[in-house]
Amino acid sequence: MDELKTFTALELARLMRKGRLSPVELARASLDAIERENKEINAVITITGERAMDQARRVEKRLLAGEEISPLAGVPIIIKDNILVEGVRMTCASRMLENYIAPYDAGVVEMLEKAGLVIVGKANMDEFAMGSTGETSIFGPALLPGNKDYCAGGSSSGSAAAVAAGMALLSLGSDTGGSVRVPASYCGIWGIKPTYGAVSRYGMVTHASSLEQIGPMAKSGADLVALLELCAGADWRNATSVGLPSSGSYDEPPQINILKIAVPQELTEGCTSGVHDVFWGCVEKLKALGARVDTISIPELRYTLAAYNVISCAEASSNLSRFDGIRFGLPGVGADFEERIRNSRGQGFGREVKRRILLGTYVLSEKQYESRFLKAREAARRIKEALEAVMSEYFLILCPTTKTTAPCLGQDLEPETGVCNFDTNTAAANLTGLPAVSFPFGADEKGLPVGLHLMGSAFQDRFVISAAETICHEVSL
Ligand code: GLN
Repeated sequence: MDELKTFTALELARLMRKGRLSPVELARASLDAIERENKEINAVITITGERAMDQARRVEKRLLAGEEISPLAGVPIIIKDNILVEGVRMTCASRMLENYIAPYDAGVVEMLEKAGLVIVGKANMDEFAMGSTGETSIFGPALLPGNKDYCAGGSSSGSAAAVAAGMALLSLGSDTGGSVRVPASYCGIWGIKPTYGAVSRYGMVTHASSLEQIGPMAKSGADLVALLELCAGADWRNATSVGLPSSGSYDEPPQINILKIAVPQELTEGCTSGVHDVFWGCVEKLKALGARVDTISIPELRYTLAAYNVISCAEASSNLSRFDGIRFGLPGVGADFEERIRNSRGQGFGREVKRRILLGTYVLSEKQYESRFLKAREAARRIKEALEAVMSEYFLILCPTTKTTAPCLGQDLEPETGVCNFDTNTAAANLTGLPAVSFPFGADEKGLPVGLHLMGSAFQDRFVISAAETICHEVSL
């Protein structure tokens, strides 16, 4: 059955509502595709076959009874392996949680199951969502579908690769600095980091609480909005969640000539020639079609990565302290309390996770707190002010999602600095809480997908996706 590759989620859901396609058949096709493709792509850590078939049968019955469930009822979805699905192993791609069974469903999982989506598996990822290429996973990296010399990106590597390879139609990732948008860009699919607070983080294993959101991934803008609608909502179990205000006037893609777009020059520097050509080709076409596109400078953006690295490591060092083999994680063997904890953390965490815990503990230490952590928070505040000022005039900020297309394996960290450079264009949305979408737009000279990145005002998530759809449909190179 080729439906998984050729149709979108909404199209297949429509066929299921009309009784022309069975959710059970579609779930089986998705599980077959995983079986077939996963040996090479390595996108899925745990396949939830039985659970998926049970859910598909339930949805089929309800649809046959004429019940209105949701616009995506019956659609197979893959969930990143740092989000809890009750009774299913959840590893965070770490030795630390290799055998952990989730005791309850995450808030988003509850909502999706109620909406009739069919969870077919848990997606591969960078260990504890730390990385940009998927290579820190203890299960090895997910590879780029269609070109296995390259990696699928990270940290939501499997979520992106699974959708691109047609194993499922939709997926959930999580995005702390770019982890939904970076792999979406490399794999040629859509992904959004929603406004901070739009989606509940209850039941997600936290990396950096003040920055991250669970983010939908899909093959089209329409599928992405539909999935976001189902995930968004306030949840009393996650105090920072408020949901998305009900739909404004922007449900239909806006006309191109009403778009006012700022392009920060800081985010366009240093791109490969392939990304450069696609991006500026798009900007020229947009202008020719009547959109206002101005190149501007936002100097504060130069501090994005520095601020991101300090804040994310600080929060990670605190959040990951619960993994000590006593409360959670790999039990440590030892004669006393300290030795047991040392062995649990020493053997449970991989190199990158340890590096970040050390860095985070350092910047939070008494002597460094003011000059490092507070300074990083101050930088984030200034970036937010600067972006909000730009947004009040333009509504949208456009740039390439990443400066290169998918990297080959083995390029994750800059050797001299140990700093991760894949998130230069994405992390500002996390520091400021603003929504940002990555959508596929053209390819470079090697044929690898290029992603464009559109950021908007807080809680304008639907408008940001709609505007990206307009650009996608109306502008061709
Ligand atoms: N690549 C970034 C990092 O490693 C972002 C990770 C994420 O968004 N989860 O920190």
